[in-house]
Amino acid sequence: MNRFPDLIRKYAFKHPDKKATHFEGRDFTYAQFRDRIQAMGQVLADKGVKPGDRVAYLGQNSHWLVEMYYVPCVIGGILVPLNYRLSEDEMVDVIADCTPQVLVVDRHFVPRAAALMDRCPSLKHLIFADWDDTAEDLPSGTPSYDALIAATPKVADDAFDDRASHSNDTMIIFYTSGTTGVPKGVMLSHANLLVNATGSGHLYGYVDTDVLLLSGPLFHLGTGSRVYTAIAYGTTMVIQPRFEVEETMRMIQDQRITTMTLVPTMLAMIMDHPRFSDFDFSSIRCLTYGASPMPLALMERALDAIPGIVFCQGYGMTETSPVLTVLTPADHMPGNPMIGKLGTVGKPVVYADVRIVDENDNPVPTGQSGEVIIRGPQVMNGYWNRPEDTAQALRGGFYHTGDAGFLDEDGYLTLVGRTKEMIISGGENVYPIETENALSKHPAVAQAAVIGVPHEKWGEMVYAVVALHDGKEASEEDLIAFCRQKIADYKAPRGVTIWDGALPLSPTNKIDKKAIRAAVLAARTERQNA
Ligand code: ATP
Ligand code: MG
Repeated sequence: MNRFPDLIRKYAFKHPDKKATHFEGRDFTYAQFRDRIQAMGQVLADKGVKPGDRVAYLGQNSHWLVEMYYVPCVIGGILVPLNYRLSEDEMVDVIADCTPQVLVVDRHFVPRAAALMDRCPSLKHLIFADWDDTAEDLPSGTPSYDALIAATPKVADDAFDDRASHSNDTMIIFYTSGTTGVPKGVMLSHANLLVNATGSGHLYGYVDTDVLLLSGPLFHLGTGSRVYTAIAYGTTMVIQPRFEVEETMRMIQDQRITTMTLVPTMLAMIMDHPRFSDFDFSSIRCLTYGASPMPLALMERALDAIPGIVFCQGYGMTETSPVLTVLTPADHMPGNPMIGKLGTVGKPVVYADVRIVDENDNPVPTGQSGEVIIRGPQVMNGYWNRPEDTAQALRGGFYHTGDAGFLDEDGYLTLVGRTKEMIISGGENVYPIETENALSKHPAVAQAAVIGVPHEKWGEMVYAVVALHDGKEASEEDLIAFCRQKIADYKAPRGVTIWDGALPLSPTNKIDKKAIRAAVLAARTERQNA
């Protein structure tokens, strides 16, 4: 009973008429959800999909994508949800990496799918995730998902028992965000995802009467993990194609949403919206968030405006299915003695053995920063097609997160940055974020990025690049002296560049340190040669 199709059947047997999904005016009960998944399993089997084969999905959020999470595994296959923000060339690379035979596409990406069918030799079959076949530009003969289901006789629950994937088999591959390198395909099993669903779900207080809003992108596990939680608890999923602030507010009100996952900026967009007070949010019980800390002021405004809600934070990554630590609702209650933990990412979930180690994988004392590593049943099967990266990431039986942080006396984890960004200057470890935080307290500083640049004597030196507020001024010496008052000498920058205009941003709107580093190094070489 630790495979998702079994859980769906069990729930559909006990509660056949309970609503499983709601999407654009279409509802499916748990019995229909089960039947559609099993029928599509038959369709894929008829197209030649065998145990271990990959099936790719390209589209916005929809009930088709939610169903497809569970279709390939019914016949032992593996789903690969594609990040639709990738360029055509990047998508071709991902498809060349995981070589699916079948591509399921929705109406938003029809021309892109036609190009992929041309360029990717592994792709043999295209399915249109819709109820009719009328999309223009579809290669001729492309069948629609719903027409295929309509043409398939009802499939018995045990029809695929000989080939369904087992608890520890990979059922889905999510590609990572690619923040620190090329996106890697993370292989996750039923057991990985179920451990996460229940291990984080009980802390979030999930119950089967919850109505869950899925509005973040389902090609990413941040929102995707909720599709598994929903099955583990038997909740109703309300699916929004993509986050749109006013539409999201309307759905919360009309569908009586009780819980959803968002990033703090999404909450700020909702709270700041001029029509915020026109909507009724009284159904909301719990808001879960991740990716960055919740500003206290924003949280207090939300607690005030939506009486009765609680907050919950998760920290994690694709490789750990994803939740590693949780800052629970109790930790967010004003007046609670633990409210001081708001800047942390909380404590490890059950079954997660979280430790902090130095660069030689030796444990560091409580309170000291190092790399966060984790061992437990939620850790991935490995990276698809990358045995060396897998062995490196999982060395010693622990997944090495690449995040730097420290545990306090109470067991709460604070993140301080990514290990790849750590600067080693004269034998001292410096995390850029500490220096950046000090710089950003200076009234003239609008943005700060801190990097390590090679230095003859110290190995690396701490170097800052700052953008100033319009009309404000500060010299290099001012800024260095300012930092030395705030943080240890060795963490203060030894050199500063005042950047002309705003700092460059990466495609995901993070400060582009690669570009900044290249510019700083080029300027130094130029000076040395002059
Ligand atoms: P890649 O691994 O390809 O470089 P990525 O690590 O950004 O990309 P994801 O798995 O999408 O890919 O993101 C996980 C990372 O997001 C974590 O390692 C961590 O750095 C960051 N993160 C996740 N949750 C939180 C949180 N609650 N607070 C701060 N940072 C978080
Ligand atoms: Mg990562």
